[in-house]
Amino acid sequence: LNRRLTTMGTTIFAEMSALAAATGSINLGQGFPDTDGPRAVAQAAADAILAGRGNQYPPGPGVPELRTAVTEHQRRWYGLEFDPDSEVLVTAGATEAIAATLLALLEPGDEVIAFEPFYDSYAACIAMAGAVRVPLTLREPDFRPDLDELRSLVTPRTRLLLLNSPHNPTGMVLRPDELSAIAQLAVEHDLLVATDEVYEHLVFEDSAAGAVSPAHLPLASFPGMRERTVSISSAGKTFSFTGWKVGWVTATPELVAAVRTAKQYLTYVSAGPFQYAVADALRMDDSYFTTFRAELQRKRDLLASGLAAAGFEVFRPEGTYFITTDIRTMGEKDGLEFCRRLPERCGVVAIPNVVFYDNVEAGRSQVRFTFCKQEAVLEEAVERLRRL
Ligand code: PMP
Ligand code: GLN
Repeated sequence: LNRRLTTMGTTIFAEMSALAAATGSINLGQGFPDTDGPRAVAQAAADAILAGRGNQYPPGPGVPELRTAVTEHQRRWYGLEFDPDSEVLVTAGATEAIAATLLALLEPGDEVIAFEPFYDSYAACIAMAGAVRVPLTLREPDFRPDLDELRSLVTPRTRLLLLNSPHNPTGMVLRPDELSAIAQLAVEHDLLVATDEVYEHLVFEDSAAGAVSPAHLPLASFPGMRERTVSISSAGKTFSFTGWKVGWVTATPELVAAVRTAKQYLTYVSAGPFQYAVADALRMDDSYFTTFRAELQRKRDLLASGLAAAGFEVFRPEGTYFITTDIRTMGEKDGLEFCRRLPERCGVVAIPNVVFYDNVEAGRSQVRFTFCKQEAVLEEAVERLRRL
């Protein structure tokens, strides 16, 4: 393993999901639903396979049906206009979109500012690109970014801001005033921005951001941002098919062409039949999206009150399907050690946020639980945690 990757090891998701399987625990670690998405969408994938649509290499940028559906989605929800031929690229999940974006746009030594805790592939992909990550630490209790600190992190080497809102693992959702300040900073310093919006349909109605419409605001909709932003999303979370790995990028033709150049040599193309099914999914009525969000909000409330009753300090998320907690109220201080012992102690698996931090002291005692599980499963997990 080269020097860029030696510290990367095995992802925490693989480690903790293996532990869940080995101990038969309830897995509230890795974020994947325990119920598949809509039957009609699954049927569309099966139909595509049987009808021979997409079983051979689909077009490099993605099948035209999906690229068009992505542009319709961006218009319907955010009023953003993209050209399906030149401004959309289909990828193997958001994960590949992030990798291809960073590999395409960064020179070795470039600095990338990203919120920490960060989704773990960010650190690995910045390292693979030979670039340098510069963390902006989000702190308890509300994990809002300190915009003065953000400004102070910009140097002549800063090339790109890598943002994620709704934010995994904290559930923080950037507010319009914060997005606007970030946009001004990017314009002022001529920075590129990549925004990871995979939880775009999970901004809860009772949060500050959820009170306005649309609840999620893409940074690309702010002045000066359309031309410098690579917006990234995927079907996994919104449609509860995380195994399909269909993602996409929307950006200007120049930026999409750059990202496509990298994507060509990573996977060349992404799974064909699933692309047709995701095109159908993106076109579902608004009621699918609002019901999905309301269901997850109920599950959030169930898990949040259960975790609080079990003694955790709970940071109520405004979005995503994760709850970050602090275990110091349980008389514990090391989240990694806590998560490694939790399955044998009570048959529940969680994720230690510390692995998502460079500044480990800021996250040492944080533990993340996902609530994208059936209510009975969440209830059983809470019962077990209360016995700790
Ligand atoms: N970004 C964030 C913030 C995530 O939580 C995830 C996990 N799903 C991804 C990207 C990766 O998405 P995908 O499964 O579409 O590759
Ligand atoms: N995004 C999911 C999470 O944060 C799963 C990611 C993964 O398995 N790489 O839990």
